[in-house]
Amino acid sequence: MMKVRRYLRGSGRVLAFVFIASVIWLLFDMAALRLSINDVNSQLLRERVNREKEIMMLKKQQQQHVWATQPKRRGFKHPVERVTRPGKIQQSPSIKLDEVYRNKPDPKLEIKPSDQRHGGHVVKNDSSKSSSNQNNGGSLLGKKAVNLDLNVAVANVTRKALKKELDESPPLARNPSDNQDSKTNEKVKVDVVKSGVKVSQPNGEEAHPVKTISQQTHVRDANGKKKEEEEEEGRPNAGPRWGNHSGAVRKPGVHKVLSLDATHAPRDPHAVGQFGQAVLLPGSRDAEVRRRWDEGHFNVYLSDQIPVDRAVPDTRPEMCSQSLVHDDLPTTTVIFCFVDEVWSTLLRSVHSVLNRSPPHLLKEIILVDDASTKDHLKEQLDEYMSQFPKVRIIRLKERQGLIRARLAGAAVAKGEVLTFLDSHIECNVGWLEPLLERVYLDRKKVPCPVIEVISDKDMSYLLVDNFQRGIFKWPLVFGWSPVPEDVIKKNNMKVTDPIRCPVMAGGLFSIDKKYFFELGAYDPGLDVWGGENMEISFKIWMCGGEIEIIPCSRVGHIFRGQNPYKFPKDRQKTVERNLARVAEVWLDEYKDLFYGHGYQHLLDKKVIDIGNLTEQIELRKRLKCKSFKWYLENVFPDMDTPVVKAEGLIFNRGLRKCLALQKDSLSFEICDLSKKNQQFNYTWMKNIRHHDLCVAAQNEGSGFALVPCDNSKRELRWFYKTSDSALTEHLISEFVGNHMCLEAEPRDDSLRLRPCQPSSVFQKWEFTHHYVR
Ligand code: UDP
Ligand code: MN
Repeated sequence: MMKVRRYLRGSGRVLAFVFIASVIWLLFDMAALRLSINDVNSQLLRERVNREKEIMMLKKQQQQHVWATQPKRRGFKHPVERVTRPGKIQQSPSIKLDEVYRNKPDPKLEIKPSDQRHGGHVVKNDSSKSSSNQNNGGSLLGKKAVNLDLNVAVANVTRKALKKELDESPPLARNPSDNQDSKTNEKVKVDVVKSGVKVSQPNGEEAHPVKTISQQTHVRDANGKKKEEEEEEGRPNAGPRWGNHSGAVRKPGVHKVLSLDATHAPRDPHAVGQFGQAVLLPGSRDAEVRRRWDEGHFNVYLSDQIPVDRAVPDTRPEMCSQSLVHDDLPTTTVIFCFVDEVWSTLLRSVHSVLNRSPPHLLKEIILVDDASTKDHLKEQLDEYMSQFPKVRIIRLKERQGLIRARLAGAAVAKGEVLTFLDSHIECNVGWLEPLLERVYLDRKKVPCPVIEVISDKDMSYLLVDNFQRGIFKWPLVFGWSPVPEDVIKKNNMKVTDPIRCPVMAGGLFSIDKKYFFELGAYDPGLDVWGGENMEISFKIWMCGGEIEIIPCSRVGHIFRGQNPYKFPKDRQKTVERNLARVAEVWLDEYKDLFYGHGYQHLLDKKVIDIGNLTEQIELRKRLKCKSFKWYLENVFPDMDTPVVKAEGLIFNRGLRKCLALQKDSLSFEICDLSKKNQQFNYTWMKNIRHHDLCVAAQNEGSGFALVPCDNSKRELRWFYKTSDSALTEHLISEFVGNHMCLEAEPRDDSLRLRPCQPSSVFQKWEFTHHYVR
């Protein structure tokens, strides 16, 4: 005890005090630390719960198909929009673009933090891509793409990077003529046609005017010119041919996809919209934004301020930059058709191709001006494009529409593969080779890039869900839908694997040029816009080809709410007419589903003239294409498409007997599933059908008749409701006024038309199988 007291005296006392104080401090500290750990934990937990909730929500939404809001549009609505609701900003943990870029905001313009504005829009089934972007930090360009300048002197660093990329690139990449093309402007071969439809060929030949495109292409195919062109390519003739199915031995050489990203000057990281960032303009610019909106149906005012060669985020799944492609890929002609396109978006589209395509693979870019009326698309465009030897402009004298404009471009294309792109897109790094690789592997493969979204409002570049493919819904409405889970599991699909795509969106794809013409290209009878994606998709699949979405190839596209250009005829009628042509040629018995979903009026020849289809039908026969039923079963099996609404016996509840055909007349028999004369179909055109005979209401009185079926006749149509109607299970004539219903007459087992009575059991009918409620 004494000892202790001694210790507590003098300096010992001080020491003891310090010691005790430290212990107490430490205890406090630990308590505080614990509190903050708890805090962090609960914060993390909250975030996780939120995140899970969000993911659940998105997954739920993902279960449902996404449909274009305007059913007759080419359907460029994209899954990313599903989670984009104006005013609802969602936080997403999956991508933080600002971390990827580490970009300082522009003092003049407020740049919205991308993770807040758009992160939530991005639904990713696979986290590897986003995390790779995040982990990387720093500049995205530093990560994957090589930022190089092919036209003017560039910093040594970028040169080295270019050299490295090209060193890794195939021998053909160093083809001297290609180098010349891309390096300097000496060898200017621009082929600008200032007016008219004459297209001069490099050999001085004049191509035919657009109206004779199809003949021209046949001539080109037939006279062996293609061969000469290929020889011109510097491609060894005796060597293995890409994309021919013959199983010839190919060069084994492969290299890693080139992730080029060239720009004319050192890239200004502070430029508006740089790196695909969202831009929020101050409110004071609203009036100007609104004033210019209709020029393109997107934020034209903002687009004009963004560099025409801005960088965009490399949104490819991580593995893509490592994927291998063949050294001797075919060359491509990129075809942009446009009508009254906005200057800055057209330029950005062209620059994105020039800057991000390996020069040796880009044969040329053809701009097809579909009789635009805007001044900037005339001399100004000629002049601007004259600095790029690879860009050619073709001008159509009269407005032809997207379909025939593309045909005009294809007819003069010199590349081995055609790549069609819309004129308001931005190709991402490494976009081209993965597409050409698929064509190389099989010339009948038609690869499409993943179409990402360039926001029409803030011009930001948004990535979209994985495993999305293009599909259609009746009446031939394009939409996006996820690949079914079981298909992903069964095939052990990776995010980088090509995705079988029942219908292409239409705007962006590559196709072997020869194969395109073998398929009869597009139906040239399709007008202006719409339905051409259905036509080419059915044609490709049914006639032996395949459409794929290539996740390692990504291109941003501005999805517009409306077409910014005029339709020479009524827009609705133009699209309907196009779709009817497609239905008549390709849908076989399923065309009933098209007409039966609100297009009955198209069957009336007096209302609409869909033009001559003989050539298209002949083509289908000549190519020995498979049936639409085959297409549904093999390409789009998850689409539930019963060819009729109901079938089997038609049971009358009052009589308790079934309708039967006896000597060209109708009566009743005891129901018997095995009897053929009791079998009927209730079709999508609402016909009650037995082989080629249909039940028809007579104009006056209570009569009915059995007549040869004819989809256009209204007297053959019978409404039938299974529920939600006072007249449930009644067969109501669409033709006769005052609600006349089919009724069984118990006295003599006959059939007649009577005014509809909700309670009458003799007016109630039941089909054995009812597929559609
Ligand atoms: N286009 C054309 N002529 C037309 C209609 C469209 O050359 O009569 C071009 C248009 O400029 C665009 C492409 O075809 O580059 C596809 O049209 P759009 O972008 O309007 O289709 P969406 O993407 O809305 O389906
Ligand atoms: Mn478009």
